[in-house]
Amino acid sequence: MIPILDLSAEIDEIRSDIDKAIKKVIDDTRFIMGDEVKVFESACADYLGVKHAIGLNSGTDALLIALKAAGIKEGDEVITTPFSFFATAESISMAGAIPVFVDIDEATFNIDAEAIESSITAKTKAIMPVHLYGRCCSMGRVMEIAEKHGLTVIEDCAQAFGATYLPESCIKAREKKEASNSCNCSPEWQHRLKGSKAGTMGLAGAFSFFPSKNLGAFGDGGLIATNNDDLAETASMLRVHGARKKYHNEVLGFNSRLDTIQAAVLLAKLPHIDRWNKRRLAAAGIYNMLLEQAGLTENLITTPAALQGDVFHQYTIRLNVNEIGKTRDQIQKELSDIGIGSMVYYPVPQDKLPVYTGQYTPQPLSAKAAEEVLSLPIWPLITMKTQEQVVDGLRKVVLG
Ligand SMILES: *Cc1c(COP(=O)(O)O)cnc(C)c1O
Repeated sequence: MIPILDLSAEIDEIRSDIDKAIKKVIDDTRFIMGDEVKVFESACADYLGVKHAIGLNSGTDALLIALKAAGIKEGDEVITTPFSFFATAESISMAGAIPVFVDIDEATFNIDAEAIESSITAKTKAIMPVHLYGRCCSMGRVMEIAEKHGLTVIEDCAQAFGATYLPESCIKAREKKEASNSCNCSPEWQHRLKGSKAGTMGLAGAFSFFPSKNLGAFGDGGLIATNNDDLAETASMLRVHGARKKYHNEVLGFNSRLDTIQAAVLLAKLPHIDRWNKRRLAAAGIYNMLLEQAGLTENLITTPAALQGDVFHQYTIRLNVNEIGKTRDQIQKELSDIGIGSMVYYPVPQDKLPVYTGQYTPQPLSAKAAEEVLSLPIWPLITMKTQEQVVDGLRKVVLG
């Protein structure tokens, strides 16, 4: 069976560094807030190009704590995408706020920035864009709109550690009809954000180190990145029960620290992330080429643009189910029957989840994507041979 993700190859590459790092944590016995946490936070802040990085228990906590630290409260509206993992909307709801869903750009699966403005009301306080599958949203446009309306932007970067926002990539994608007009921001905003890492453009970025993410720990982990001193101070306080000084709790907080052992693993992995992300992008380019050569891309399958700056947390194709004459779930099952793993991110958009029954009118493009997307095996060290097997299997199932 070809798995959707094989973590063993990248771990093997740096196994001795990881073993050493873990052993040191065990020898030091500082399992909570040991030195590695601070060292990792500062390495992460340097890598991303921000003033503050705050290690946390998970990406979900990073989203929730960022919202709380940004002052989002009961009754506020937060604009986000329906097409994401539930932690996105869940964090908004857990903060007491109301998620307002704006539909996606059909080509990138990210929020359609051009559709945001018409959903802004007097209650809107923030926008939470998600850089899905490892591609930055049209952040120029998101930030331009946010500034115009005085809104806070909290980026969900769980799938985009190391992704870079390059407006020229975005424009190229638009010209090739691989994206809508949503990267239509002013040249001033393009210039301001060009080359920024995901998670550094809004007020704060929330990252996840869940093992399957591009920078994955050996358990749960998360992080907030920000240039804002106040937000950093509040988030640091919220992660330890709302106390600036131990046993002098000032507000209700969380128990949400990044374990020392996870920080040590992440520190060992961080120097390799750019190389691994580049290999993911290269693998995506190879899939695009192989699928085209197999004659699948004319009108059966839509492939993702593989643009500079993208880090391909997932390689996700859209199946033209009408043209193929099979449902996506059928195709996925037939692939599995011949030993090819795949995943559906996500089968149910957030606005259609049981938790929100009766509260939303589903957004049509997200609902359509939920029936047509399929993510294929990808990881940094995937081989050409494995990719050929995947495409060959897909050809048999789709044309078969
Ligand atoms: C993984 C993920 C999260 C949540 O991260 P955890 O570390 O699992 O809590 C949030 N948003 C998106 C888009 C994700 O993919």
